[in-house]
Amino acid sequence: HFEQSQLLQGLPKQFFASLVAKVGKVVAEGHDVINLGQGNPDQPTPDHIVEALKVAAEKPAYHKYSPFRGQQFLKEAIVTFYKREYGVDLDAEKEVAILFGGKAGLVEIPQCLMNPGDIALVPDPGYPDYWSGVELARGVMEYMPLLAENEFLPDYSQIDKSVLEQAKVMFLNYPNNPTGATASKEFFEETIELANKHEICVVHDFAYGAIGFEGKRPVSFLEADGAKDVGIEIYTFSKTYNMAGWRIGFAVGNQSVIEALNLLQDHMYVSIFSAVQEAAAVALLESQQCVDELVSLYESRRSTLIDGLKEIGWDVTAPKGSFFAWLPVPKGYTSESFADYLLEKAHVVVAPGVGFGEYGEGYVRVGLLTDHDRLKEAVERIKALQLF
Ligand code: PLP
Repeated sequence: HFEQSQLLQGLPKQFFASLVAKVGKVVAEGHDVINLGQGNPDQPTPDHIVEALKVAAEKPAYHKYSPFRGQQFLKEAIVTFYKREYGVDLDAEKEVAILFGGKAGLVEIPQCLMNPGDIALVPDPGYPDYWSGVELARGVMEYMPLLAENEFLPDYSQIDKSVLEQAKVMFLNYPNNPTGATASKEFFEETIELANKHEICVVHDFAYGAIGFEGKRPVSFLEADGAKDVGIEIYTFSKTYNMAGWRIGFAVGNQSVIEALNLLQDHMYVSIFSAVQEAAAVALLESQQCVDELVSLYESRRSTLIDGLKEIGWDVTAPKGSFFAWLPVPKGYTSESFADYLLEKAHVVVAPGVGFGEYGEGYVRVGLLTDHDRLKEAVERIKALQLF
């Protein structure tokens, strides 16, 4: 029996592990549980991408170690993708790093740029893996509240000057998990000005980059002037192409940050299976119809859920992007007591907002990753509780 290192013991507790245990108990009791709490895309990877993997997997050359820092053809496909989708020019050699999923890059970044005690600015509520990365780098977190009245964007005027001076990294994420908010190019320009002034590296998590509603395409951080001087964007195949199990993503932007990521990864891994890289390149280069269809699917589920909840009297707002809705909890509940209540009485799972940070209190997160019938059924079960 070996004791865990202080580093491991100091990591933030995984809040949602306790939720998984609670759900497991209700399922074990034989109840029909509707799980709207997770973030795992329910649709399969499009066929043409799976086919590309099968063909590529048969190439003996790909059974050897892949080149360090990834295949050239994938880096070139990423360059083509960013130019086509966002009008952004990238250098395949210096401005692209291949990652084992977005999560790996997000967790690696603080180790690349921060020394112990340095500050990272982190959105609250936010994706919990930002905290893990900062802790692993022995950094210090300063939370930027995302408030409804500011459309869930951080208010930079509220950050202390001394904090800005010590901050090395700032995480942003739009379309946002968990709030479903999106950001404008003007907001990114304001961010770039602040980052330049205080020498902060902006890490924009664009995991939901493909998923914007009402015809509004999410803006890439790199579309804003000067973005590459101050930061990077992290993209993943997990959500755009339903490839969450494939573990592949990439970072694009500032050369020194890309070099740091590549250097850290040189010490940790070789590279992703080349057949996966080839299929990923196919995903980026071939028809994007599958992406349009996916966004339409989420948009129609969003209507089913949000219209249904409004009809039963719950005052909710539709997300602008991502596949999550961020719903205010009724009076008299905390996010956790309300999630427990829905699980026990309606067998509906939602994620308590407090799991995403202090400012997530007062909300629950609901995923659009279940088909219409189940979403309608969830609304009916909540209606029967006569909460509203
Ligand atoms: N960023 C956000 C905001 C996410 O919600 C997720 C996944 O849920 C990720 C990053 C990581 O995605 P992956 O590691 O699958 O690329």
